[in-house]
Amino acid sequence: MALSSRPEVPAFDASDLKELKRTLVTACRVLDREGITDGYGHVSARVPGADAFLTIANVSPGLATVERLIMMDLDGKYLGGAETPPNEWPIHACVFKVRPDVMSIAHTHSIWSSLFSVLPIKLRPLHHYGKFLSVNGPPIYQGAGLVRTVERGDALAKALGDEPVVLMRAHGDTVVGASIEQVVQRTVRLAKLGELTHLALLHGEPRYLTAEELETFNADERFPARGWEYYISRLGKRES
Ligand SMILES: [Zn+2]
Repeated sequence: MALSSRPEVPAFDASDLKELKRTLVTACRVLDREGITDGYGHVSARVPGADAFLTIANVSPGLATVERLIMMDLDGKYLGGAETPPNEWPIHACVFKVRPDVMSIAHTHSIWSSLFSVLPIKLRPLHHYGKFLSVNGPPIYQGAGLVRTVERGDALAKALGDEPVVLMRAHGDTVVGASIEQVVQRTVRLAKLGELTHLALLHGEPRYLTAEELETFNADERFPARGWEYYISRLGKRES
């Protein structure tokens, strides 16, 4: 194989993908267990070194299994697994295409992201759980409606820009990160930040974190292993 060529996409059943698929299923179940997703939403993982990704088929996150995963390329071409892609697959394809740093994406209809997607008040970090966000909070994709076309997926990716999160007006959110575990923790913490901000606003204008204070918290960046272990402990038996 020439050095300049990209590695081929592994087969859906390749042993190389086994652990990634298991982690992806666990991630879906965690978001369901933590009350972030309901019957809808999905998590995806980039296939390392390939222009392809894995996500759940057209199934609720809480019912995800390895057999109900699908692999697609970044143009939406079917590459293996369950044959019915989630309706909003362009969210994943279009963001992976323009964000080579992103290894995992979660899309949810989180009640807290939905709330702050329609308010004049921006969701901004006022607790260290929001430390991964910019000081002015996530941008909002204004296009109401599901992201079922590449055109809308591209518009969403543009709204996301280089940020870790984009809220989606009257819809939910899209959260990106360097690993499945990080994306799950970010998604859960984003919801906690939304709830906390909602409570804080009942008492008046909250004191938000400054850019300098966010940097202080971010200096303590660690891989979210402890949070991940905790989330798994709340799932009970791991089934796949
Ligand atoms: Zn959606």
